[in-house]
Amino acid sequence: MGKQSFVYVRSKEYAWVPAIQTDTDGKKATVQIPAFKDEQSIDSDGCRGKKTEEKVDLKGYVGNVLPLQNVDGQGMLIEIPDMVELPYLHEAGILYNLKRRHRDGKPYTRTGDIVIAINPFQWFTEIYTDAVRTRYSNKLVWTDSGETDPRTFVDPHVYETSSLCYKGLAFYQTDQSILVSGESGAGKTETVKIAMNHMASVQRGPVEASSNPEEKFEDPVVNRVLQSNPLLETFGNAKTTRNDNSSRFGKYTQLQFDCLEIVPGNIDRTKSRCHLGGSKCEAYLLEKNRVTGHTEPERTYHVFYQILAAPDDQKASFWSGLKGSTFDSFKYVGATSTTKIEKRTDAEWFEGTCETLSLINLGGDKLIALMRAITAVLQCGNLAFGALGGDADKSECTSKDVLAGLSDILGVAEPELNLAFTERTMKTRNETYKVPLNAETAKNSCDAFAKEVYGKLFLWLVEGINEATKAENNYSRADGQDPGEFGIIGLLDIFGFESFVINRFEQLCINYANEKLQQKFTEDIFRSVQLEYEAEGIELAEITFDDNTDVLDLIEGRTGLCAMLNEECVRPKGSDEAFVQKALGANKKSPCLLVNNMDRMGFGIHHYAGKVMYSAQFFVERNQDTLPTDLEDAMMKSSNFIVAHKPAPAADAGKAPKRQKSNIVGSTIWAKYKTQLASLMGSLRKTQSRYIRCLKPNKAKVPVKMEHIGTVEQLRCAGVVAAVTISRSAFPNKLPNDTVRLRFSGFWDKAAYPAASSDLKDECFAMMTCALKEKAEGDKVAFAVGKTKTYFRSGALEYLEANRAAGL
Ligand code: ADP
Ligand code: MG
Repeated sequence: MGKQSFVYVRSKEYAWVPAIQTDTDGKKATVQIPAFKDEQSIDSDGCRGKKTEEKVDLKGYVGNVLPLQNVDGQGMLIEIPDMVELPYLHEAGILYNLKRRHRDGKPYTRTGDIVIAINPFQWFTEIYTDAVRTRYSNKLVWTDSGETDPRTFVDPHVYETSSLCYKGLAFYQTDQSILVSGESGAGKTETVKIAMNHMASVQRGPVEASSNPEEKFEDPVVNRVLQSNPLLETFGNAKTTRNDNSSRFGKYTQLQFDCLEIVPGNIDRTKSRCHLGGSKCEAYLLEKNRVTGHTEPERTYHVFYQILAAPDDQKASFWSGLKGSTFDSFKYVGATSTTKIEKRTDAEWFEGTCETLSLINLGGDKLIALMRAITAVLQCGNLAFGALGGDADKSECTSKDVLAGLSDILGVAEPELNLAFTERTMKTRNETYKVPLNAETAKNSCDAFAKEVYGKLFLWLVEGINEATKAENNYSRADGQDPGEFGIIGLLDIFGFESFVINRFEQLCINYANEKLQQKFTEDIFRSVQLEYEAEGIELAEITFDDNTDVLDLIEGRTGLCAMLNEECVRPKGSDEAFVQKALGANKKSPCLLVNNMDRMGFGIHHYAGKVMYSAQFFVERNQDTLPTDLEDAMMKSSNFIVAHKPAPAADAGKAPKRQKSNIVGSTIWAKYKTQLASLMGSLRKTQSRYIRCLKPNKAKVPVKMEHIGTVEQLRCAGVVAAVTISRSAFPNKLPNDTVRLRFSGFWDKAAYPAASSDLKDECFAMMTCALKEKAEGDKVAFAVGKTKTYFRSGALEYLEANRAAGL
């Protein structure tokens, strides 16, 4: 009879299944896999009942059998709020722990400093009450827990992260940030709102949970800050197949706090406090293509449905032509599969949108200008073009009424608009001339115009929100003193890593941002592991991890993809294929670049989260952000000040990137994005970052269900597995010292290995020296005993457990 132990066995269909290993010869293992009917019925205690026996190969990626589940004496999986405490922390252990908690209505779990949030797809209102909020801020912010980590008093929660941020800022004067990531529909945006609401309430100070459970935020500044969220969503979110309220832009919001009341070293927490004074936000990469096209059952941006669902007389007050219109009146909108988003109708949402616009000083004339700009976009979709006088190379607008409408809205004469769409001005060194466009190209340039107008109104809105919310404009202290520099808590809500069947320019931009964030994440985890070892008094062990500088080099380096694409965009006849071939040539040595032999327009990147193949089709076009001058001029002539508006330069745009050769390179989408990201990373580096990883447990968006394969994939993309690998690279397993003494004293020959003192730590040391003497390799011992925990090198704890089970 071999040594029986609980294991996880790799499974194609279910990622990992629990099993009992009955025998092994070192190459193959005999395992008994319990019978189950589907994913949902595979459970932690699944090792009971009927089983089938199989032989599995032990080799393969991280092995096909992972040693031991985290089970208690009865073979039941232990479920734990902080996974760092799991004696066996690996992919399978994480998966089953999360699954169990998810099923039990516990959406949040932590791994050290990272909070993992599984989207429950049902609102557990009882964990977001004012009483719960107060409990977290009282325990984590306003009570001094001394040496003890205050988190031991509470279950993992977003409120934990928000409390720790507030505390870090209020009592340690360190700017903070919360980086929220995850795939579409994983719950990022909701998480950010939950955190923001909480932080706005922490400033009330320690309060009795029952004092005023339904207190609303009466503070007008707080109100505006919180209200700006739904407003941005109206213009930047849309229904997609993956999420009914999907954000189609990335967002970094900085909450600004007045921390002057904080006296460093002041222990009287009731007296020191930070006050929310305002907020500023920055938007990244709005998906403008959605404005001119979407496929059923997706929708375009919410605002279009909202405005069209408004009462007729209100619509007519924006523009008379809107009277009597429906979704079907406009080609960019069309039929919609739903008129309700989160239980409210488009018409109800619109009332809220108008109210909030007034609240942030964008009511009255500004509101009308904004709605007219939106109407202009709608009108562009209905413009039709046909051959001019039978000449297929030339075109004219054939929908005269629509053109007249657009002219009325924009305040630009009809013939001028017609020419802007149907001709292109070309400039050489010596002359300027016009080239006629055919009907198809004219339609494309009309679409480009619409996208640009929408992009402008979105930026204008972001600027407007910032004017109305930023502390510099709106906050003054009750005592009239100057608040000085504001403390910052930043919240990043940005698209997670993407890998589809076909990956385009947009995916590359998104994945580039994720690589940048992953780099910071790895650095932070590395540092926290170092700190843990230091705190335990363990000599710094060799921590190993994959860093992703190679990938970043490939993307943003001197001859990287970004540089090559920008060069291709300034060449008069730049093409996607030439870009790929040049990029492949210049980066032959990169270990992260994959050649696609089947497709000259294809290439692949080995990202930290896996391999992604990209199609370079439209890269050159999508990277170009310069609107033809004809369209630009038409916009500048508009009487609508939003359409004619020149957006303020981005924060760091003043310091033009040095290496760039010409202005055109500087104005590609990617060049701008790179500058934006660099500035984001710069601000983040000034803060202490905390991480919330959102996971989408199933594609159907239903409660309770958890799909194993999809979840494991997201754990990898979120870097959770990498974080675990880093933190466990030297010592994969650890146990509290008292558990070690309790469990393994049977191994201890006290006479041969006396302890230096009766101290728990010394006893553990003597005991392990005795027990693990055979596992030591040369002068490399198999364990390290710290102040409170014993750390085991790979194989050591398994060895102890197996021999203990064998009755030693
Ligand atoms: P993301 O921003 O990651 O794309 P969202 O934050 O928009 O995802 O969330 C998608 C949907 O998931 C929400 O509209 C909501 O229905 C649901 N959801 C998200 N977070 C929670 C939560 N904490 N509790 C219940 N449902 C949630
Ligand atoms: Mg979102």
